Amino acid sequence: MNTTKSSKLFAEAQLHMPGGVNSPVRAFNSVGRDPLYIASAAGAKMRDADGNEFIDYIGSWGPMIVGHAHPRVIRAIQEAAESGTSFGASNEKEIALAKLIKKFVPSVEIVRMVNSGTEATMSAMRLARGFTGRDKIIKFEGCYHGHGDSFLIKAGSGVATLGLPDSPGVTKSTAADTLTARYNDIESVYELVESNKGAVAAIFIEPVGGNMGCVPARKEFLQALRDLCDAEKILLIFDEVMTGFRLAKGGAQELYGIAPDLTTFGKIIGGGLPVGAYGGRAEIMKMIAPSGPVYQAGTLSGNPLAMTAGLETLKIIEETNDFYAKLEEKSAYLENGMKDLLKKANLNYTINRVGSMFTLFLWMRTWLILIRQKLRIRRNLQIISIRCSNRAFICRRRSLRRVLFRIAHSEEDLDATLAAFEKSL
Ligand code: PLP
Repeated sequence: MNTTKSSKLFAEAQLHMPGGVNSPVRAFNSVGRDPLYIASAAGAKMRDADGNEFIDYIGSWGPMIVGHAHPRVIRAIQEAAESGTSFGASNEKEIALAKLIKKFVPSVEIVRMVNSGTEATMSAMRLARGFTGRDKIIKFEGCYHGHGDSFLIKAGSGVATLGLPDSPGVTKSTAADTLTARYNDIESVYELVESNKGAVAAIFIEPVGGNMGCVPARKEFLQALRDLCDAEKILLIFDEVMTGFRLAKGGAQELYGIAPDLTTFGKIIGGGLPVGAYGGRAEIMKMIAPSGPVYQAGTLSGNPLAMTAGLETLKIIEETNDFYAKLEEKSAYLENGMKDLLKKANLNYTINRVGSMFTLFLWMRTWLILIRQKLRIRRNLQIISIRCSNRAFICRRRSLRRVLFRIAHSEEDLDATLAAFEKSL
């Protein structure tokens, strides 16, 4: 594959930006090659600066669930742009998107728009502290909730890919207020709550772990968290930045039938433009300024272009017959195809999959096991270049980089992916 232009661009970028990129995983460090510079994308395909075409399973790390450059989304953005790109004042689209989010996710009674998933989780944390009058939060090893200081403790995603479970720059006092428990291990949560009686404001969790590879929570574990939070007056916060509108219209909480007190969103609700949101029970959300004393604001929050892209994306989901059934069918096709090929190649790996999120791994339930598996996979399946936060891959005709999913993949794309997978094995 000729990647001369991408390599040249990367050499130039390194002179101007930290590591040449504006977000760490884009540097492709753990793939062991220079990053690709993407020139265009449409449907399930991406084209780089050198003209190489890829079947994309990253989907911009989640937002592009209806495919890249969907004609309806592009048209809506163009029309909205004609009327102005930012007003610093309210616009109608904010209401429309809020209404649709509430319709999709019934636990959300009131919602506040922000600009990213990180902002959503940071704001939800402040709100939880303001509402409960408590300081500490519990998060789980391997879960990623954006790059807010309090969350960069034993985090997943790019933080783990770079081998930086904790980040310099996070003060000891901030870190002291973040307690970390083990995913799917309720005893570890009970212990923390017991030894910090009356001090825990919230438990944050990715209800299906996506930033340590795809690691689903067990239903009884989530139910036990719900019961514990009710008993101890702790807020249960589902971080659905990745799972929201992906696993079902109502996200993971619909799938599991468990309602959190607050939910954080991002990715898909922006349809490819920068949007995040947090919402939940009205009693809690009313604490946010200006209806309450917990301050949170944003120059570009509710931006008309971003609202338009998100709104159109959610409308496409709503208006497409059997959207999630189709996504499931495609994901299952790929999973089954890969499983057959692994069996044929006598390789004892499996796939963790929940809907359109999946990872090639051995079955795992905790972060620790994941790290061991990761090392083993690196050793044994280097050709496939599995990366740590393995929820996505780009697949080229001959090579398979990294694994996730969208409605835009055709049968032909899926078969080409399986053929590449077989060759890689
Ligand atoms: N929460 C989860 C579960 C995520 O996966 C991410 C990003 O990958 C975030 C929060 C942070 O979102 P953003 O990158 O939009 O700040």
